[in-house]
Amino acid sequence: MKSKLSPCVLSLFCLNTFIIYAQPNTDNAVISTIKINDHISMLQWSGAGNMMLLSGKDGNILIDDQFAPLSEKINVAIQAINPGQVKFLFNTHYHGDHSGGNVNFANKGATIFAHANVRARLAADSTNLKFTKLTKPEPSAAFPVVTFFDDMNVYLNNEDIVIFHVENAHTDGDAMFFLPKSNVLHTGDCFMKGRFPYIDANSGGSVNGWLNAVSRALLLIDDETILIPGHGDLANKKDYRDVRDAVMSLRDAVKKNIKTGQNLDKILAMNLTKDYDKTFGSGFINGDAIVTTIFKELSRAK
Ligand SMILES: [Zn+2]
Repeated sequence: MKSKLSPCVLSLFCLNTFIIYAQPNTDNAVISTIKINDHISMLQWSGAGNMMLLSGKDGNILIDDQFAPLSEKINVAIQAINPGQVKFLFNTHYHGDHSGGNVNFANKGATIFAHANVRARLAADSTNLKFTKLTKPEPSAAFPVVTFFDDMNVYLNNEDIVIFHVENAHTDGDAMFFLPKSNVLHTGDCFMKGRFPYIDANSGGSVNGWLNAVSRALLLIDDETILIPGHGDLANKKDYRDVRDAVMSLRDAVKKNIKTGQNLDKILAMNLTKDYDKTFGSGFINGDAIVTTIFKELSRAK
């Protein structure tokens, strides 16, 4: 992108944690069910994060739960697939468009699992210097009751669910969920199909951590794997590799220019993202935004 950052984009940088939390109007939201196989579905509404439902004899297992006002609609969609309440709920990370329904599902009997930093961040408030979340702490019913630091395997509904933490990627509490038998991977917000990644540096995210996270996921999956991204439609390995390669090449280009003493304005004027703008830059992270994120991180690391 040639243009300098617009005030609108600048405000996104200033308020990025808030923006990602900002709850759109959910009155007319429709939860779509996209069947992946006979016991796994993606539940989707474009205004919030993608969910995965794993159903079967062990009950309903849900990954992510969008915003609180949508819980009833989500539940209706679930009942149409497999009657019964959600037994286990997993959060891919703490952002409200993925964990906002925690209280509602917990009140209906779901046990919530997530990385330890998801619990820490849901409990934090804006006066806590360690965190910069602009909302008050969530009620304790929203907190995961089982947390993990690294990896965890869960065996339910004839699936081996491989849960692995990826460090400092989109946030500092991301987990991905791989089901090798069905060959399905839920990436959480470590992947938004057809979009540059949103790196929430205020919540421990980092570009280099994100690149490592994608590389780790790509080692696990193959060309047949069905990816449920945090946002966007179902995807495949190539979709994920393409955005990883784009960000890696931008990271390297920005690094080279920092070494030769270029400042952010000069690097933005180089239009380094011109080959990627149409493919990945049409979302709220445009070319200038991802270059700025990379520049800030690499400048800090110098
Ligand atoms: Zn997120």
